Amino acid sequence: MAMRFPLTDLLDEQESYNFLLKTLHPDGMKCKQGHALPPDQKPHDRRRDPIFDYRCRICGNVFNLFTDTVWQGSQYDCRKIVLIVRGVAQGTPTLHLADELEVDYGTLLERRHRLQKLALAHKPDTALTDEETEADEMFQNAGEKGTKHADPDDPPRRRANKRPGKGTMANDRPPVLGVVGREAGQIRLEVCDDTQQATIQPEVEQKTEPTTTLYTDESNAYNRVAGTGRGHGTVCHSQKEWARDDDGDGIREVHCNTMEGIWTGLRNFLRPFRGVHKKTWLSMWPCLSGLIISNGSLLTS
Ligand SMILES: [Zn+2]
Repeated sequence: MAMRFPLTDLLDEQESYNFLLKTLHPDGMKCKQGHALPPDQKPHDRRRDPIFDYRCRICGNVFNLFTDTVWQGSQYDCRKIVLIVRGVAQGTPTLHLADELEVDYGTLLERRHRLQKLALAHKPDTALTDEETEADEMFQNAGEKGTKHADPDDPPRRRANKRPGKGTMANDRPPVLGVVGREAGQIRLEVCDDTQQATIQPEVEQKTEPTTTLYTDESNAYNRVAGTGRGHGTVCHSQKEWARDDDGDGIREVHCNTMEGIWTGLRNFLRPFRGVHKKTWLSMWPCLSGLIISNGSLLTS
């Protein structure tokens, strides 16, 4: 029999509340109209301790920790919500999470979809300001799970193929472009149709400042990076070259090792989701994962 971990019982409810307060309201709690909660104000209703209701002194609206968040109307306690957010962030399958936390599968799935939608809506789209950036592509197998096939002679489900080499959206191995800043550690991820220069170049220009030095592999996709005024260093992965010292200071600065490390984290994150529908899900996960990496490296914990 599998050992069960009563995680909810092991966490402190007040600590979980404090964590959610910091995460959901970094600038302090507010009513629906945006009036700040004075630090000395007493709760209006204490029945759901520690999730107190407050009545706004200005507009009279009653609000709490979850007002205007994904968790409004939820009956989960703070410990469960912390563990759900963690599970979604780490890519724990919904069935496993529902079982472990003893919550309803359908309700949990619905919350997960709302979280992912929010992540997509808040996907960062500003250029990375780092002086040194790296760009690289990863290829993710993605079939067409759930799509009905009209042709009875066609296999019922085209599994993601295992062919090596350049993937495209059309052959079920869509490339994911990653650009990371070496100083701030922020990342921008994009699912692309292919790795042609015409596809990759505009993405790189949008995701980096013109003053950056971009490190990539030798792919033709990056041939015109230097033409934009950006510095460009390449390592020749096909020649088994992984890092090189171009400026002679003894530091091998020409590499894509930051991106390589992120891909390892993402592959682990994606493992439970093999065979997802490429259009719906692949458009969703990079932004979620990207947010997670930008906001504290949950993927590697
Ligand atoms: Zn108010």
